[in-house]
Amino acid sequence: MNYKQLIEIKNNVRAHMNKKDTLTGIYNKDYFFDYISNKPNGTIIKINVDGINFVNVHYGMEIGDTLMRFIAICLEENCNCENAVIARLSSFDFIIHKTNTNNERIYEFMEEIKSILTKEIKDIYKVYINFNIAAVIYKNDDLDIADSISKLDICMKNLISKGNRVGIYNDTYEEHISIQSIESAIKSNEIKLHYQPKIDLNTEKIVGVEVLIRWFSKTHGYIHPEKIISFAEDCGYINILGKWILEKACIDINYLNKKLNTNIDLSVNISPLQLEEKDFISDIIEILDETKFDSKSLKLEITESENIEDIIKINDIINNIKKTGIKISIDDFGKGFNSINYIKNYNVDEIKIDKSLVEYSNRNPMFVESLINMIHTTQTTVVAEGVETEKEYLRLKSMECDLVQGYYFYKPMELNDLIESVKEEKLTTEEELTVGEFY
Ligand code: C2E
Ligand code: CA
Ligand code: CA
Repeated sequence: MNYKQLIEIKNNVRAHMNKKDTLTGIYNKDYFFDYISNKPNGTIIKINVDGINFVNVHYGMEIGDTLMRFIAICLEENCNCENAVIARLSSFDFIIHKTNTNNERIYEFMEEIKSILTKEIKDIYKVYINFNIAAVIYKNDDLDIADSISKLDICMKNLISKGNRVGIYNDTYEEHISIQSIESAIKSNEIKLHYQPKIDLNTEKIVGVEVLIRWFSKTHGYIHPEKIISFAEDCGYINILGKWILEKACIDINYLNKKLNTNIDLSVNISPLQLEEKDFISDIIEILDETKFDSKSLKLEITESENIEDIIKINDIINNIKKTGIKISIDDFGKGFNSINYIKNYNVDEIKIDKSLVEYSNRNPMFVESLINMIHTTQTTVVAEGVETEKEYLRLKSMECDLVQGYYFYKPMELNDLIESVKEEKLTTEEELTVGEFY
């Protein structure tokens, strides 16, 4: 080997070393930030190792270092297939870049990483180390590294202060939505449940209602339900919130049915993250038992997923739910890309055609009529949502759509107003019957 070759090898080694963290051997933060600077879309995930300081103090730095090296290896082994780049960010923090920007997938990935790391360390080193994992998603070349790091810190602080460990940065943090504020809004009745009737097009009567969350904040005004739900999903609060909604709605609708001697069904929106909770079905059954709500009168509205693995998983969950007598409705049908998959593969009770398709029926009625006919071939009830005009309603009726929901009939309303509406409807029916008998 001549001198020139030696220098070349030395430079290569140096360049390689410049990229690597000396303790763990994985990439260092300089390389990481350089690498992500030309990635147009992606997610940055920060993993804080909580408890290494304790290990350093009580068992010695060497053990602490060994653990950090072990975590780095674990991360590389478990993330590489996920198209990720991993680096050490600081003493107790790692950082990952993924090209995936799907909220649900990222959340799932973070949960998986947390449980793998906790378990492996517990099994091998017999110590319990916690992990706080925060993520920030960026799209369309709008990456600002300093801004992303500050968002990760805000998200991490938010998580830790609320006793959560995994979360994705969300703009709503700046709007003071927190678990605490949601809980106190529920207590003070700022967060309420509204109900929107579903009308049977044959009888023109209310046969069911969909429960929708409402937050009228004294300090921040109307907070859109999608913001509440996405915040709850991001910070791992959706299961608790979802159970509160279900329980309160079961109590309300039981009260209405008893008071008016009716048999109105209840539809509840279910977030995809709730479906993945292992106690999801048993928790629902417990609520139904406690509130004495008939499982046959409950319908769960789930939205279609874009992910094929989810589709297989969801199919099993749907079948298990159906064994309990609870019905399944597919929400926002036609909005996503997998709509037809749902008709073909799933044994669901109801499909809710999205408002955008109802609007499209104004331009291309044949398309929507064929869709309704196609769904009917699988003995599934069709509901059209977002029906706003008489024209739309009459057209859907002529297409033999089964149920409609929308401002043309009723807007979502509080329980008391719902009771009044159902009462009024009953009175007119009774009047019609009496008049009918007379003639
Ligand atoms: P979604 O399940 O598709 O609910 C229907 C939305 O359409 C509701 O908006 C409802 O108020 C609105 N809507 C009903 N009829 C009409 C109409 O004729 N015209 C128009 N323009 N809109 C109409 P909302 O209440 O703002 O809810 C938005 C979304 O937030 C819901 O969409 C659902 O995905 C979510 N959401 C609301 N409440 C809950 C809840 O309790 N749990 C969960 N997981 N998600 C909820
Ligand atoms: Ca819905
Ligand atoms: Ca919908």
